[in-house]
Amino acid sequence: MGTMTTPTSRRVLLAAPRGYCAGVDRAVIAVEQALQQYGAPVYVRHEIVHNKYVVKTLEKKGAIFVDETEEVPPGNIVIFSAHGVAPTVHDEAKRGKLATIDATCPLVTKVHKEAVRYAKEDYDILLIGHEGHEEVIGTSGEAPDHITLVDGPEDVQNVEVRDPDKVVWLSQTTLSVDETMETVDALKGRYPNLLSPPSDDICYATQNRQTAVKQMGAQADLVIVVGSKNSSNSVRLVEVALGAGAKDAHLVDGAEEIDEAWLEGVGTVGVTSGASVPEVLVEGVLEWLAQRGYEDVETVTSATESIHFSLPKELRRDLRAEAKAATDGESAAE
Ligand code: SF4
Repeated sequence: MGTMTTPTSRRVLLAAPRGYCAGVDRAVIAVEQALQQYGAPVYVRHEIVHNKYVVKTLEKKGAIFVDETEEVPPGNIVIFSAHGVAPTVHDEAKRGKLATIDATCPLVTKVHKEAVRYAKEDYDILLIGHEGHEEVIGTSGEAPDHITLVDGPEDVQNVEVRDPDKVVWLSQTTLSVDETMETVDALKGRYPNLLSPPSDDICYATQNRQTAVKQMGAQADLVIVVGSKNSSNSVRLVEVALGAGAKDAHLVDGAEEIDEAWLEGVGTVGVTSGASVPEVLVEGVLEWLAQRGYEDVETVTSATESIHFSLPKELRRDLRAEAKAATDGESAAE
């Protein structure tokens, strides 16, 4: 092992808010609740949220993750993930005689509704997002003939529309706020009459986590973002940290993926986590750092969040029916 330069003061800056957003919380609870209510197995189409640990934990409890609805045996329950699905997926489930629980985040549903509305008004919709991401596939499926994907500012030159005066942009919920604005500006350069959606599609959780990492990243020699590689909002946090001036930044699924060499000469380590990451994984990272002399932890808070979404309606309906049956049973017994 080479000699390590050890800085005299070592500390951790912990970003807040970080971790679970309201949409992820709801989706994970929906699977847990479904397992409790209907018993295992419960099928889930795609990763319920993009986090390895969450998926493994739910698998242990009896959830079965499938790539396609057709893999679910008829008569079973299938849960749709927080990222949303195209209407054709709902049709497949119907054909396969499956009961469905839709755990699509309400903020993704909002974008779906905007897509449907603008398609009805016959706009060309430019959806800013990452090609192949599940959310983008779901949203595009709402109006495949009207939606064109724009994957970043460099993709703007490839866009073709029918009428340059009847174009609107929408976006994936988990993009970088700054990069999206760059893309919008480039689009406006080509289509000066480009219409903007009534409110930003990038969700509050993505925006808040980016603001927090910007604040903290500017002071950090190293930023560790806890999150899985396929988690769009987590990957963005690494980019935003570097953009804010962090000297180095890495995405890890947990403490076991941290490379000791990253600490070389590092005084301040910034820590944050993506919207699909349970806090226990961040705690693991903090413990790992503490064992290496980074015990002093300071929280850098840039916003407080109080958003909460109620469970998917199918679950609420069955919970209510169950509660009613229980009360009826009680009164019958009286
Ligand atoms: S990151 Fe945003 S859009 Fe995605 S689940 Fe969380 S709140 Fe919903």
